[in-house]
Amino acid sequence: MEIFSRFPTMHAALSGKGDGSCRLWHSKPDLDKITAANRERFFETRNIDPARVVSVLSEHEANVRAVGHAEAGQALPRTDGLVTRERDIYLSLTVGDCLPIYLHDPKTGTIGLLHGGWRGLAAGIIPGGIEAMRSLGAAPEDIHAAIGPSIGPCHFEGKEDVAGAFAEFPDAHEVREAKPFLDLRAIARDMLAENGVLAERIAISKECTACLPDKYFSYRRDKPEFVETMVAVIGIPDK
Ligand SMILES: [Zn+2]
Repeated sequence: MEIFSRFPTMHAALSGKGDGSCRLWHSKPDLDKITAANRERFFETRNIDPARVVSVLSEHEANVRAVGHAEAGQALPRTDGLVTRERDIYLSLTVGDCLPIYLHDPKTGTIGLLHGGWRGLAAGIIPGGIEAMRSLGAAPEDIHAAIGPSIGPCHFEGKEDVAGAFAEFPDAHEVREAKPFLDLRAIARDMLAENGVLAERIAISKECTACLPDKYFSYRRDKPEFVETMVAVIGIPDK
């Protein structure tokens, strides 16, 4: 994926529809059997040992945790972002329209992965993520950020509660046919910049999950009974 061109030394990826739903279901063991198998196959085809992956059970909040070998293979509750400086630890989360935000500081080898839905963005997942990167020694101006395929301004309709949460980003709002649309990627980009990430180090995928039914699951497009998601992963191999 082109957005990872500045991430040369690591595994950074997002699954697609062809990989099957990679949702982490802890509440539904039957479904979890299928989606866990999809997730493991996706990791293995990328030479990632699933036992080295740290997952999260997202709550659309701003809780970012620093993890390491102690958390390998675990799924952490109430967590929407992960950072690490350890090698051979793969950070992962699932998205089905939300923005997967990948972070990498090549100077210290610190990496991060944030779950950026509108609620998480409004709650402060980006300042929380940059602060967590700083706590591991990364300076914001050294961080490269990549925002993966996500629901675009073409499809993200933001009713009043959503629009109101981002009143300080007037350029991200657009009204079409009397409906309010919102550009979450532009908001995430501006928030990264406000937190010290340099504009030229922010890469954004133009792919919209809702526009590409052959390639991606999209909750807002499909509204399935059981949510189907992609899995995002980032990690630096140990060698
Ligand atoms: Zn679209």
